[in-house]
Amino acid sequence: MKLVTFTHNGSTRAGALVEGDLVIDLHAADASIPATLLELLQGGHDAMQCAKDIAQSGADGIALTDVVLEAPIPRPGKALAIGLNYRDHAEETGQEIPKHPIVFSKVTTCITGPGKPIHIPRVSSMVDWEGELCFVIGRTARYVEREDALDYVAGYMIGNDVSVRDWQSHAATWTTGKGFDTHGPIGPWLVTSDEVDGSDLHIQTFVNDVLKQDSTTAQLIFGVPDLVAYLSSAFTLEPGDVVFTGTPSGVGVARRPREFLKPGDTVRIEIEGLGTLENPVTEEPV
Ligand code: ZN
Repeated sequence: MKLVTFTHNGSTRAGALVEGDLVIDLHAADASIPATLLELLQGGHDAMQCAKDIAQSGADGIALTDVVLEAPIPRPGKALAIGLNYRDHAEETGQEIPKHPIVFSKVTTCITGPGKPIHIPRVSSMVDWEGELCFVIGRTARYVEREDALDYVAGYMIGNDVSVRDWQSHAATWTTGKGFDTHGPIGPWLVTSDEVDGSDLHIQTFVNDVLKQDSTTAQLIFGVPDLVAYLSSAFTLEPGDVVFTGTPSGVGVARRPREFLKPGDTVRIEIEGLGTLENPVTEEPV
């Protein structure tokens, strides 16, 4: 099932995207289904089963072209990210293959949706792209074994871990450089994990239609089950938490000459089975 957060007639709510590019308003179709995707995930298996039944029921939908898609989880409780998690990317940045996942937080106010602008902030012109597979937690997870980890993953979506390279290097924590407003596009929809296997998906990033990153999630040093086990050993993962799993080689800062995003550019990330996440790049409004 493809789950979306959409705005239509001034109201933002959870929907299921079905055959024929129609969006079914889940709460309108069945009032027992929560109105937001975060609450739907918090509702666990029962709420998800109701959503599935509605998605397969042939209920009336709204044309995808008549709605505005938002970030599937507009304000997750946690947005975690993993650095240097593709062998080729670790090599291109001249770093050793990490022994443990390099975990950092993306400040949740940076989350934005498909089609929304990525701002070039006033304080930097070193804004870079990072196409990534994201997974979303569907069940409260603590001390989860690797073998059971996928039971805790609600689904997958595309993310762009936009990075301000000069600010990223201000401090080892990377928190500022990875968390600028608008620098966490996710979407366009959440594909439930019963429909997609995240372990070997083709991932590509294009800037202005020029291919910049081209890899597969099979190249991940720490795969999704490793990450769920590792992260849940440190803290509780909650429904709706988003994890950016890392980016393959081909980022702008590692190119010679270096390349950064500028107003007028468009970044498009495609992951097999997960659709396309496209965002224009603009000057930050005054
Ligand atoms: Zn990243």
